[in-house]
Amino acid sequence: MSILVYALHYEGEFNQNSLGAVSEGAKLAKELGGECAAVVVGGDDLTDDLCASLGRYGATKVFRGKAPEGLAQPVVDVMAKVIQDNGFRYALFGGGLLGFEIGAGLTARLNAGVTMEVTAVRAQDGGLVAERPILQDSAIVDVGYVGETGIIIGRLNAFDISEGGDGAAEVVDVDVQLEEHSTKAVMVQRGEQRGADVNIEDADILVAGGRGLGKAEGFEACEELAGALGGAVAATRAVVDAGWYPYAAQIGQTGKTVAPKLYLAAGISGAIQHKVGMQNAENIVAINKDPNAPIFEFSDLGVVGDLNKILPKLTDAVKSKKG
Ligand SMILES: Cc1cc2nc3c(=O)[nH]c(=O)nc-3n(C[C@H](O)[C@H](O)[C@H](O)COP(=O)(O)OP(=O)(O)OC[C@H]3O[C@@H](n4cnc5c(N)ncnc54)[C@H](O)[C@@H]3O)c2cc1C
Repeated sequence: MSILVYALHYEGEFNQNSLGAVSEGAKLAKELGGECAAVVVGGDDLTDDLCASLGRYGATKVFRGKAPEGLAQPVVDVMAKVIQDNGFRYALFGGGLLGFEIGAGLTARLNAGVTMEVTAVRAQDGGLVAERPILQDSAIVDVGYVGETGIIIGRLNAFDISEGGDGAAEVVDVDVQLEEHSTKAVMVQRGEQRGADVNIEDADILVAGGRGLGKAEGFEACEELAGALGGAVAATRAVVDAGWYPYAAQIGQTGKTVAPKLYLAAGISGAIQHKVGMQNAENIVAINKDPNAPIFEFSDLGVVGDLNKILPKLTDAVKSKKG
């Protein structure tokens, strides 16, 4: 039973989220006695070597579609053709905004079953069962699939990367006629956002700011610390809604899910809707002036104090240690 995984690339590299999904797909395909293939869509930057490198993560084949990269509908066209021509039973996505959009489009196109926000997948009785948290992550439901195609869309970075593959994957070019509506949108420009020198989904270190920063300018202290640590800046919904920081940096139920090595939360109360997006961080350090702030209940290290004093001192300490 075979699994097709979508892999997103940007500037000659696949993103971490996609590599995790390919690794997961390969592991599950092995358990089902089938194969895991990847699908990539883009232009001339999708070289043979880049595509074949997905073999390191367990893909045996990589289907390469020439179509505009970074837009959902062309990918839906390519994936629908690959699935129909090759009979893949499952399509797996690592999540992220594009993954959600492509997965939803593919579901409609193939009249398939879909599960979103999946945090784990297991092989059971010859098929796949997706685990999806519900009710603000207080319970998990198992979702199985009937019908020809099952679509599984993970939460961002839900799947671990593993380089367990045998080597280079075979690269197969897909000849696909894009639907007329798929070419109506064009990528004009990729926006650069404040604090986006490092992709927050891939960053090992995140310095997250909340309403305790007091004002938009408060984020400068987070940016300085993140810069010193080689990390990126994240935010709560409260500050995004207030216009202090871009939505792309929002962590939580209606934002991104991250799992960095270090999540430093400054002036964040720790609401459940924020927690669900960062609770899988390896180490959580919280700075809050309120000793009863809920975030201390799930922090590895809690610092009670004023972030206006602590953040600059921490930045200086990191810089002098590095220097
Ligand atoms: C349907 C729904 C979806 C939601 N989705 C999300 C989501 O995706 N992400 C998200 O983050 N939220 C989400 N929320 C909002 C969430 O419930 C909280 O309102 C939000 O996370 C609070 O943000 P905050 O921690 O920045 O602000 P607050 O809750 O106001 O906390 C600010 C904290 O800063 C501390 N503080 C103040 N001054 C200082 C200082 N000088 N030094 C140190 N600490 C200080 C305070 O003690 C306080 O704990 C959602 C809510 C709903 C209803």
